[in-house]
Amino acid sequence: MADTLAETENTIDRRMPSEEVASEPVSAISARALRKVYKASGGQPAKEALKGIDLDIPRGSIFGLLGPNGAGKSTFINILAGLVIKTSGSASIWGFDTDVNPRSARASIGVVPQELNIDPFFTPAEALEMQAGLYGVPKSERRTMEILEAMGLDDKAHAYARTLSGGMRRRLLVAKAMVHNPPVLILDEPTAGVDIELRKQLWDYVQELHAQGTTIVLTTHYLEEAQSLCDQIAIINHGEVVACEPTQTLLSRISEKRLIVRAASPLDQIPASLEDMKVTLRPDGSLDIQYNPVEVSAMSILAQLSAEGLEIADISTEESDLEDVFLQLTSGAHGAGN
Ligand code: ADP
Ligand code: MG
Repeated sequence: MADTLAETENTIDRRMPSEEVASEPVSAISARALRKVYKASGGQPAKEALKGIDLDIPRGSIFGLLGPNGAGKSTFINILAGLVIKTSGSASIWGFDTDVNPRSARASIGVVPQELNIDPFFTPAEALEMQAGLYGVPKSERRTMEILEAMGLDDKAHAYARTLSGGMRRRLLVAKAMVHNPPVLILDEPTAGVDIELRKQLWDYVQELHAQGTTIVLTTHYLEEAQSLCDQIAIINHGEVVACEPTQTLLSRISEKRLIVRAASPLDQIPASLEDMKVTLRPDGSLDIQYNPVEVSAMSILAQLSAEGLEIADISTEESDLEDVFLQLTSGAHGAGN
């Protein structure tokens, strides 16, 4: 990035959607049919990393982009950051189309890349000042020490970057992404290689930024991390979005349990009393009943069945967890999809 981002076409409007006049709120990030094909090179065949992504990330959210390694998360982020050129489709950031208003789009996000690319010849304070210069932040508005302090790097402000630990480097990258005070902060695998204490510190800072109105997008392959932090989660696999919903909705799926009921004689159809539930008849004639223990108990299901005259020979329960849902969604069989 040799050019300065100072002369943006418009000033960035940080208002929340509720304050907007338009009835359709403008997303923090929006992608339509976004596609990326990496060309074949060095014996490697061409790779379609994104197969036409449609995604809307609401303003004010902490949004988790979840997916296994190679799913296309970094490709998506890097297209937004202007580091990877999309093959087709469109993307906009804070309402700015990346083709039409590239400078405003870029000024609207700060990206913490997955790679720890720190220039070893600059101190953290110098690195931040340079970044601020690149984004045209006037000297009077720079918050170099404030940001370093928030990231727990103030005592390293004037140390050589090569003396920083992995965790410190990660935090320096977050600091760099924040110098121009963007309304959207994107963190790509921010906790890879970061120890638990620093991880907590990083999340505290991210949550504080969120509380102050910054929209947060993070990619991770740690399910639990996304679960505890994000209010909405999109799951991406093989370059496709396989789920996108509020974390609570995803969790309610996860809290589903399964009750396997074997009748005295194998069944050939699902009993009428279970019509409203998610039930499948297994090849061996037993019933696989999915239920949410918050809504209904296993006892009442069994009571219903015996009231209908079913003689129960055996029962067992299976609990699904986040891992299960994730596997289910990413295994190719979109069992729990919409
Ligand atoms: P994620 O961040 O979810 O792990 P990536 O976006 O890094 O996934 O990668 C998606 C796919 O694109 C992978 O198959 C990866 O090997 C491929 N890929 C990523 N970057 C390049 C590149 N520069 N050239 C060729 N293929 C790439
Ligand atoms: Mg990645």
